[in-house]
Amino acid sequence: MVNPLDRLVHALCKLPGVGEKSATRYAFHLLRSSRDDVRELAEALLAVTREMRYCAECLVPSPTDPCRICRDHQRDRDCICVVEEPADVTAIEKSGAFRGVYHILHGALSPLEGVGPDALKVHELIHRLRSNVVGEVILATNATVEGEATAAYVAQMIRPMGIRITRLASGMPAGAEVEYVDARTLAYALHERRTF
Ligand SMILES: [Zn+2]
Repeated sequence: MVNPLDRLVHALCKLPGVGEKSATRYAFHLLRSSRDDVRELAEALLAVTREMRYCAECLVPSPTDPCRICRDHQRDRDCICVVEEPADVTAIEKSGAFRGVYHILHGALSPLEGVGPDALKVHELIHRLRSNVVGEVILATNATVEGEATAAYVAQMIRPMGIRITRLASGMPAGAEVEYVDARTLAYALHERRTF
């Protein structure tokens, strides 16, 4: 039988940024925690897989489909902001500078890591643009090599559709990830976005 502590360390190691050392530290912390705290964590973990789905429209993880943003009639459906990850939506929402809707690619092009165009939700975006009237697509991918390559690829795919394509402005520091840019900078980058 596998030692339960080893099993927990092994499971924690699968989380991003968690190495064996941190996993061991978390495991010992949990071992010392109260049963109620551990149960709360275990139930929260299970609830996420059981109750969260993906919004069929924008592909954000949500307990409802469509998600809160796609259901909101005050949002401007004419403008779609394309991001790499769900955490980018959270960051942009916090900036308060965007009233349109989103599309999550669920990744960025990375030939070195074997992530090609088919791994991204680009076809879903194209399908969406074909079946809705959309005036502008904002490419809000990261200002990293992968993010720029992704923006260029998406732009190339949708350019024939004649929709206005913009990119976050230079307020975004080179190499910056949308998720970690502060709200004011992000608001500026959105406001000053340029045609791509
Ligand atoms: Zn949605």
